[in-house]
Amino acid sequence: MKDLFSRKINYMRISITDLCNLRCQYCMPEEGICKKDHEDILSLEEIVQIVKAGAKLGIDKVRITGGEPLVRNGIVEFIKMISNIEGINDIAITTNGILLPKYAEDLKKAGLKRVNISIDSLKSDKYKEITRGGDLTKVLEGIEEAIRVGLTPVKLNVVAVGGYNDDEIGDFINLTKDMPIDVRFIELMPIGEASNWAKEKFISNDYIKNRFKELVPTTTEKSSPARYYKLPGGAGRVGFINPISSHFCEECNRIRVTSDGKLKPCLHSNKEIDILDAVKNNPDKIEEVLRSAIMTKPEKHYLYTNEEERSNRNMFQIGG
Ligand code: SAM
Ligand code: SF4
Repeated sequence: MKDLFSRKINYMRISITDLCNLRCQYCMPEEGICKKDHEDILSLEEIVQIVKAGAKLGIDKVRITGGEPLVRNGIVEFIKMISNIEGINDIAITTNGILLPKYAEDLKKAGLKRVNISIDSLKSDKYKEITRGGDLTKVLEGIEEAIRVGLTPVKLNVVAVGGYNDDEIGDFINLTKDMPIDVRFIELMPIGEASNWAKEKFISNDYIKNRFKELVPTTTEKSSPARYYKLPGGAGRVGFINPISSHFCEECNRIRVTSDGKLKPCLHSNKEIDILDAVKNNPDKIEEVLRSAIMTKPEKHYLYTNEEERSNRNMFQIGG
């Protein structure tokens, strides 16, 4: 369906858990977070009901995220249920990749099409530092496994953080010389854990593009938040996602669902519509709640203009 600004909303992003097996410094508090009670979160079967209602409204693309989606029990069966919904023809996952060596093959068999894998450093000690304990070798194995089983094109998400991984930007870009992957640089957003320090450590994607002048523009899919470039003769692409320096609101085609049953028409706004109650007590209303949430999608985000409007959720609750 179309929203008030004639944007076709066909993409649902679902955060299926707040929990995570890492503690990235810009995302998750060091001590982690408390597990919510069963009745305060959507079960995987309930999420399937929401996707079914979405499919009736024209949702054809679903992304599963978190927290870390692969830590939720029943993930493979869940992907199978989503892939069996009529009208859903693209299912992807955003993951830190740690559990991909274990699950990639089963996820592919269950109907998953693609994965985006978050990796902010190619050096073990630095990776351990920013993720507060993560094992880089598992992620690298996860990337290989995803390519091997055909969860392609594999996209790597790299958050550029000043003083942390700015010296590795060239190494990430060089991965696309021989590997058929997309490496996408994401600008650090002043959300949650990063809200106090994101501005000082912010590296704009324009800065990266200016430093690597050999990158040439290449085809970008419509409705992708990334703008793509290529190294001459490169096997993969280099993408830039600029939520801060140039927003892509005019092309936004998405609605978000949180694991505690809220619909978020905009990532950066604190406006949320409860769908938990409808799901638990009045399933006939799910489609109506979804439809009215889509109609409240704002024209653009107010990340730097209106403090009151700004989302007060952390990224691990929304899923990026
Ligand atoms: N755990 C999964 C992962 O790391 O890919 C999925 C959830 S994570 C919240 C989704 C994406 O959000 C990751 O690529 C992560 O790097 C990004 N992210 C988290 N906090 C961010 C921030 N403050 N600014 C920019 N990106 C952020
Ligand atoms: Fe976990 Fe992803 Fe947040 Fe890192 S970015 S703490 S992996 S949810």
